[in-house]
Amino acid sequence: MQQNDTYILALDQGTTSSRAIVFNQNGIVIGIKQIPFNQIYPKPGWVEHDPFEIWQTQYDAAVGAIDAAQIMPSQIAAIGITNQRETTVVWDKHTGKPVHNAIVWQCRRSSSICQELKAMGFEKEIRSRTGLLLDPYFSGTKLVWMFKEIPGLRERAERGDLMFGTVDSWLIYNLTGKHVTDATNASRTLLFNIHEGRWDQDILKMLKIPAAILPEVKASSDDFGYTRKDLFGCEIPVTGCAGDQQAALFGHACFEVGASKNTYGTGCFALMNTGATPVESKHNLLTTVAWDLGKGYTYALEGSVFIAGAVIQWLRDEMRVLSDSAESERLARMVKDTGGVVMVPAFVGMGAPYWDPEARGATLGVTRGTTKAHFVRAAIESIAYQSRDLLVAMERDSGAAIPFIKADGGASANSFLMQFQADILDKPVILPEVGEVTALGAAYLAGLKIGYWSSMEEVERNWRRKRDFMPEMAGETRSRLLERWAKAVEVTRLFK
Ligand code: ADP
Repeated sequence: MQQNDTYILALDQGTTSSRAIVFNQNGIVIGIKQIPFNQIYPKPGWVEHDPFEIWQTQYDAAVGAIDAAQIMPSQIAAIGITNQRETTVVWDKHTGKPVHNAIVWQCRRSSSICQELKAMGFEKEIRSRTGLLLDPYFSGTKLVWMFKEIPGLRERAERGDLMFGTVDSWLIYNLTGKHVTDATNASRTLLFNIHEGRWDQDILKMLKIPAAILPEVKASSDDFGYTRKDLFGCEIPVTGCAGDQQAALFGHACFEVGASKNTYGTGCFALMNTGATPVESKHNLLTTVAWDLGKGYTYALEGSVFIAGAVIQWLRDEMRVLSDSAESERLARMVKDTGGVVMVPAFVGMGAPYWDPEARGATLGVTRGTTKAHFVRAAIESIAYQSRDLLVAMERDSGAAIPFIKADGGASANSFLMQFQADILDKPVILPEVGEVTALGAAYLAGLKIGYWSSMEEVERNWRRKRDFMPEMAGETRSRLLERWAKAVEVTRLFK
């Protein structure tokens, strides 16, 4: 490494681990460090993280990535942050000490609060202002829970002694001392008016949340302060910040209206760029801020498949039909089709466009001739069918056509899945050369602010494909398969 070369450091704070990646100007990974941390399950359905552990693992990962890159901290030109979204932290303004563990996005403890707010008729208003559903997933009702359950919290908040933030805010506070967030993270709190770009005073009143605890909302490519000198021995500017899914959309260079990405992890997260228009969904999709580069918001439609790679995990760990996830591809390729088997893995209900929390999984069309290979193939195909349902709903909601899908995430390593996705969508599926698109997105946001990269055109030029999967399936076959899938979903939903 040249002593005078400079790099961008991305901090990727995820749900199960903190990662840090050093990128060079070509968007290539130079150093990486990942540190897992503890999941805390106080009761069934509740999930917490220790905020200090989040910070400590993230800091150690940053130091580790700089070490791995064999560079000096002074060669880091800027830091970009991307993070697990919605997870809620409240800390004392004077001591920096959290008042409670972080309440994680997966945590369902505020279900009854959501029910009460629905019964009071607040859902429609909240939905139209925030683009979200009234669900425990989002930060707002987690915060309401804290105010209800932690004695004295409201008084401290009203005195101006407390700070609320999602994980980005918590990290930035520890890095630079500033109490800030960006519009993409704010748009996941249930408290942010995505049309007006400010905290919604009426919603704050509905939820009885004191405005004094809220961070300042900045652009995603902005000045978030300089790191404290004791952390890296020099002051590094923090100039990028976005929630993980939005950062991935940016890292894939999905800059045009209709440009879409799907991340194939435990679940799938699909986002479609809808440009300057926030599209209200008729199919239970979410409307969210994709990014803010200081020139007005770019919006996205978002949907998720709850059980995607998780169905492969289930076959591996519970059903024991796979020794590892990669074996699923070998098995799927052993048969020419599923032999009529369709699997609908509604293990935790069905997400958008169906939104049926009570549905449970089913496997249909099984015969005496059904083999393990048919079964596994049906499981993989279910990931593609569910993703297609989301993407078609996005096209219907936005009126924009999706030209192709950019893919990432652990299960995107499955080429059978990628090809089947292209076939069933009748659109190309494209894998990027750099798989770390989430961290890359945060790096780009940071680098654009300081002129490390000159423009979005440069980011787009930097984006390189690893492989294209072109649709090859005959139209007739596709129609027949889609009809069977639709029928299987219908039957599954009847069984409750
Ligand atoms: P997350 O970030 O959601 O934890 P990852 O992006 O690391 O997930 O992806 C892990 C998921 O991908 C697991 O559910 C695993 O079963 C699935 N997976 C990994 N490799 C493959 C493969 N070759 N084929 C199918 N699924 C896979």
